[in-house]
Amino acid sequence: MKRIIRRMLLLAAVTSLLALGLTPIAAEAGPRSCENRVNNTVQKLLECVTVEGVREHQAAFQAAADAGGGIRASGTPGYDLSAAYVVERMEAAGYNVIIDEFDFDFFQVVGTPSFEQATPIPTSYIDGTDFDVMTFSGSGSTGTVPFTPVDLSLGDPSLSTSGCEAADFAGFTPGNIALVQRGACFFSDKAANAEAAGAAGVVVFNQGTPGREDLFFGTLGGPGVGIPVVSTSFGIGVALAEGATGSIDATTISETRTTVNVLAESVHGDPTNVVMAGAHLDSVPEGPGVQDNGSGSGALIEIAEQMAKVKPRNQVRFAWWGAEESGLVGSIDYVVNLTQEELDAISVYLNFDMIGSPNFVRFVYDGDGSDIAPTIAVPPESAVVEQLFLDYFDSQGLETEATVIGARSDHFAFCVSGIPCGGLFTGAEGIKTAEQVDIYGGVAGEQYDPCYHLACDTFDNISLEALDQNSDAAAFAILTFAQNTETLNGQKGKGNFSPQNQLKALD
Ligand SMILES: [Zn+2]
Repeated sequence: MKRIIRRMLLLAAVTSLLALGLTPIAAEAGPRSCENRVNNTVQKLLECVTVEGVREHQAAFQAAADAGGGIRASGTPGYDLSAAYVVERMEAAGYNVIIDEFDFDFFQVVGTPSFEQATPIPTSYIDGTDFDVMTFSGSGSTGTVPFTPVDLSLGDPSLSTSGCEAADFAGFTPGNIALVQRGACFFSDKAANAEAAGAAGVVVFNQGTPGREDLFFGTLGGPGVGIPVVSTSFGIGVALAEGATGSIDATTISETRTTVNVLAESVHGDPTNVVMAGAHLDSVPEGPGVQDNGSGSGALIEIAEQMAKVKPRNQVRFAWWGAEESGLVGSIDYVVNLTQEELDAISVYLNFDMIGSPNFVRFVYDGDGSDIAPTIAVPPESAVVEQLFLDYFDSQGLETEATVIGARSDHFAFCVSGIPCGGLFTGAEGIKTAEQVDIYGGVAGEQYDPCYHLACDTFDNISLEALDQNSDAAAFAILTFAQNTETLNGQKGKGNFSPQNQLKALD
């Protein structure tokens, strides 16, 4: 395995962090003894892991976003400041800190794009409703020009191979907008052929077959296309095919950038039986991501700090992942670069992505698939992880609900690599039901997180109740496995540190 470790990369960010006054300030919360004592039991640890402590880290993430143009997406200054903050805190706490650099495809739509029909019927189409700038679209303004239909199959849409062959563009007038229909080949092929023919922009309209009629969201797969490309519905495509003029105006950034994962390993503990806990550190380019995922990231900093004096039986490795929002890039890059030996040494992976949603449900990853079958391969020991969380919440008199283990967050690469996995989640764009309101309170018919992936995902976008409960649950699971993984893999741990004894100790 070749792992690039570069501390210099973040030096500039650390310097500006200091200038911003974001340097560590000891949390006021928790018993005074937390600063000195060794939190080697769950009672002690949970006393010291406080919601005020997590909020301190979320405030730092908000400040990083404020200093970085309102966002903390990987490849932007707000992310680098966030990573520098984690590095500072973890080094100060005495962990072995690893900065794991990798490349990823960055994409951002800057400002508000437009897509208009000028003639025959002047129409301003609405972004997100009528059209979408395709992921990895190029940047540009076409001016008002004709839409040129390219080998359309409007009579029998199932036959569409529109734009798939260079020959489709024979006679295409350079400078026009290529009007192509979905079907038969990659969007990137259609866009590349159009660009080669001199098109100023591309409209890809939905195919028109059953289920492919409305606006759709597509990706060109990666950077490379130099002209603006939008997707739209079959209906708008048909209207434009009858002889229309109009324009596309989109400013995008589509390029390869470098970013980092930050890992912090305990100095003590068996390095052949590693307990990992991870959270993605990046936001989407649309907002500051202080809940998604400043909540999970902040909780892990707090837990790591409060565990810093513990000498665990097993090595503990905390991870803050980069470019999760670009397709789980950081965690996948990390896992695929592990040797088999390094992979075998990881006994469990715990994921914390969104644990303070304002309109929350206490979701626990369904490790045994008893309520919702996983949509990815999950090792059977994941049932043990789920059970530990369920037992913990049960001991606190708190109800939970199962959530599917799928490919939505950074546990993915670990689960499919055969590492027992689990985690907590408080909901994203899903809609809260009346039954869930009966249990958790909140508002029925609204999203679990109304600011999910939006600019309003700020410091104030939080349920302190959910954040507090889930931070404790996470701390409980991390310390329990850090001391004893017998239920996972038969490796006996320290003293009476079995999950059952830990639960009893909380009563
Ligand atoms: Zn997330």
